This record gives sequence, C-alpha cells and structure tokens, in this order.
Amino acid sequence: MSKAADEHTEDASTQRQNGNRAAGQRLSRTEPQQPSKKQFALTLDLENDWYFDEPGYDHLTFEYIDDFIELIDRLSVPLSIFVVGKTLEQYPEVIDRLDTELDTEFHLHSYRHEPTTNSFREELKLGKEAFRNHFGHDPIGYREPYGDIDPAQFPVLADEGFLFDSSVFPSYRPGVYSNLDTPLEPYVIEGVPDLLEIPLGVFRGVRIPLSQNYLKLFGRSLIELLSVAPLPNTLVYNVHLQDLYRTDSHENLPGMKRRIMGRNLDRSVEILEESVDRIRSKGYEPAKITDIHSYHLHLKQ
Ligand SMILES: [Zn+2]
Repeated sequence: MSKAADEHTEDASTQRQNGNRAAGQRLSRTEPQQPSKKQFALTLDLENDWYFDEPGYDHLTFEYIDDFIELIDRLSVPLSIFVVGKTLEQYPEVIDRLDTELDTEFHLHSYRHEPTTNSFREELKLGKEAFRNHFGHDPIGYREPYGDIDPAQFPVLADEGFLFDSSVFPSYRPGVYSNLDTPLEPYVIEGVPDLLEIPLGVFRGVRIPLSQNYLKLFGRSLIELLSVAPLPNTLVYNVHLQDLYRTDSHENLPGMKRRIMGRNLDRSVEILEESVDRIRSKGYEPAKITDIHSYHLHLKQ
C-alpha cells in the first residue's frame, strides 16, 4: 500500500478516537445470501484481563487455565483463539498448552490491545512478528480490540496477508460502534475482494450480541431466547477468560462496570455449557473459524 494510503489510515484512526467516522467510509450494508450450512464457532479473545497494565494485575485468569482446558474439553467443540501479541510473548507456555491439549487454532488480536501512538499497520506488523516468532507462520485471521474496526483498516489487513477479519459486531454500543444495518452472515468487504468479514453473532431482529458477556448479563431470559429466537446461520460466539473466572482484576474494575460484569459471574461456566447445548440442539455444526472461511470461499466460486 502507498504511503499516502497508510497516512489515510492514520487519519481514520484519529477520527475514530474523536468519535467521528470519516465521511463515505461505511461497512457493507448489503446482506449476503443466507448460507445453507449452520456453523457455530466458539472464539476466545486471549488478552490481559480487563487490559490492566499494572503490577499485580497481569493475566490473573491464567490461574484458571486448567479449569478452562477441562471446560472446553467437556464441551467438545473446537476453539478459535484470537491472541494479543504481547500475551503470546509473555506466556508462550500457556499458548502451547492450549495449542496441544485442545482442538484449537490461533489468530491475531492486535499487539498491545490498547490505543497506541503506532499506526494500525505498525501495530499489525508487531503483532505478526510476535505470532510468527511463536508459531513459525503468519496469522491469517484478525480481530480488532473492542470491535472498534474502521473500514480504512480492511485494505491494510488484506495488504498484510490476512484472509479474514472477525471484528464487526452487527449491533450498537454507544461511543464504540453503530452497526445496526451491517450483515449478520459473512461477507466480502466492499473494495477488498480478498478479505472476508466473519461478523460476531447476534440475535436476529434485536441484534443483541450472542456472546458470553451478554448471556451472563441478561441471564435466564437470554438463554431461553437462544432456543426460540431466529439466529444467523453462521454463529460466532465469543468468550473471554474474565467472563468466566473471578480474580482481583475483576475487583479492581470501576463500580458500575464491576457490577455489570459481575452479574452471574459465579455461574458463568454453567451458562456457557447451557448456551452451547442449546445452539447444538438447533442443528449447528461446531466449526473452527477457518472452516467458516473455507466454506464461504467455496460459496463465492
Ligand atoms: Zn480484546
């Protein structure tokens, strides 16, 4: 990509931080054809809990890694992990355990998981380097922190060799994203033909994200809705370790956030088990996110 285009990306990033999306840059609004296959991918964003960069609050949920491995093993579903580059560098042994003890695959979730003075491309290059140093190959999938992806980032992802992105919540979160009319099924990014967006799952109609933090927040009513509500045929269900396990990092959250994130936290594991059961009973086939990517590439042809 030209220097000018890269500068354009930095402009877009600055505008996003100011809460203004650049005029004319929009995510796709065209709903793709509904795929006939019902696929379900459980994804994990692997990062420092609540992103505290303070001594004493470093990846505290890793003390539950045995429990987590047992849980995923019990669920008997493949796990697609979006890992932060710095986490990879700091905890290679945890990554190796997830890699060897479970049916997993890895993709990139930024280098630092925080707004930096770097351009998006520089941040991506650092993340790729950390990934390559550990796995011996480049990542092909990407997820932006906080779902805060900007359309100007898509061409950079394609240019850096990524084949798919899974950052878009087709939903609304005040001050972060407003994607109430973006597609619910995977779609090719407009103007970036080699990049597939695999959006995160939401309930059709109400567009409430179908992820562990929302299931946990709304509890029983949303779990019940899983069985009866129409859902996209491609279902990406995301979890974080901090959605499942209580640590001092949770206790360190500011009051309101702590209360919201603390709701049903102590029964979060059961909520995940029940949600996966209900999704399966609706005929979804557990898949890795690259299975979804391959299936949609095949549909395109
Ligand atoms: Zn994250």
